[in-house]
Amino acid sequence: MAKALIIGAGGVAQVAAHKCVQHGGVFTDLCIASRTKARCDELKAKLDAKGTDVRISTAEVDADSLPELVALIRRYEPEIVIHLALPYQDLTIMDACLETGVHYIDTANYEPKDEARFEYKWQWAYQDRFREKGLTAILGSGFDPGVTGVFSAYALKHEFDEINTIDILDCNGGDHGYPFATNFNPEINIREVTANGRYYENGAFVETEPMEIKRRYDFEGVGERDMYLLYHEELESLAKHIPGIRRIRFFMTFGESYLTHLRCLQNVGMTSIEPVMFQGMPIIPLQFLKAVLPDPASLGPRTVGKTNIGCIFAGKKDGCDKVLRIYNICDHQEAYREVGAQAVSYTTGVPAMIGASLVMEGEWKKAGVWNVEQLNPDPFMDKLNRYGLPWIIDRDPVLVP
Ligand code: NDP
Repeated sequence: MAKALIIGAGGVAQVAAHKCVQHGGVFTDLCIASRTKARCDELKAKLDAKGTDVRISTAEVDADSLPELVALIRRYEPEIVIHLALPYQDLTIMDACLETGVHYIDTANYEPKDEARFEYKWQWAYQDRFREKGLTAILGSGFDPGVTGVFSAYALKHEFDEINTIDILDCNGGDHGYPFATNFNPEINIREVTANGRYYENGAFVETEPMEIKRRYDFEGVGERDMYLLYHEELESLAKHIPGIRRIRFFMTFGESYLTHLRCLQNVGMTSIEPVMFQGMPIIPLQFLKAVLPDPASLGPRTVGKTNIGCIFAGKKDGCDKVLRIYNICDHQEAYREVGAQAVSYTTGVPAMIGASLVMEGEWKKAGVWNVEQLNPDPFMDKLNRYGLPWIIDRDPVLVP
């Protein structure tokens, strides 16, 4: 029986809120708070219209402001804050949770606004403070990071004595019909894909040019797609938490149209985060670009196709070599019919709710700051099957060269 405060009212928050309402018995009260209160009210109206016993309220909050967050948390008195705004706000929200004695969960690690760089070090530095206060902070409970870490913990617990390599394959086979749009926050998405690639090998990270390493893979439910090696935040935490690991790579699929548009936008400077003067005002080109691109939350009705995301593990069991792939296939239109959002938001919002429910039920309530692979994967895997993201095990997967 818990009161939860969701911060953010975008695509991911929309899914998580629907799922909190569906998860009978855990969440009794939900407050949806964001910068633009109208979006929270719209979401509340949709949830109320479906008929629910969960008491839903809304609030306006600037999550960059510690005093505003603290005032809202003191007023609402939630047991957990589910942070689904942007990675820029991670530290402010963690500070607010510490000040008010509330548990914390998010889906993306902290990123400074003025520097396209994400790392766990800033959030890992909160370990002692959360532990001393007896509070839980769960980092990265989306799909990737999130489910990919849970799959890794599950594979290690039940299938392997030792995992030596992990390839994370993220395929979005969805088509929204626009020449160019991003499936989640455009600013965060473009910062991620225009950065240098990086993978972990033999104790160190190897850096590549952006999109330098390309592979082709046949994804069930989607077909053959080109995928590119990117740096992704769970590489840092998995390298630390999976014993015996030698290599971890992350690949994401991109279509030709997306890449051509992105190259063009980069060439003309529209993806830059350096301020430029425009009509006497400083503007950040990437933020302006976000304003003219389709809102990811609006892609739901027009996106068709499926996502196929998961991990290929290679290692040892009982002295023998073993490979295994664990993945989920999610259909954009099915997700839209159920919660009014496309599959990229769906595959992130469902795990956010599951992580929060496990903290509330006590399974994942553990003082300190944790990445999901450090916690018991079994109840999470069970809820993935029950709340819309069933997983598949392939014991003879095609490997990535
Ligand atoms: P959206 O851009 O659709 O939504 C973000 C929401 O946060 C909006 O409602 C926005 O308000 C609100 N917001 C932004 N800044 C503030 C602020 N200062 N104070 C209060 N509210 C604020 O993003 P998504 O829903 O697509 O993504 C949400 C999060 O999920 C992101 O952090 C993203 O990185 C993460 N993510 C994680 C994935 C994973 O697998 N782990 C995959 C996809 C996303 P407004 O409406 O005013 O703009």
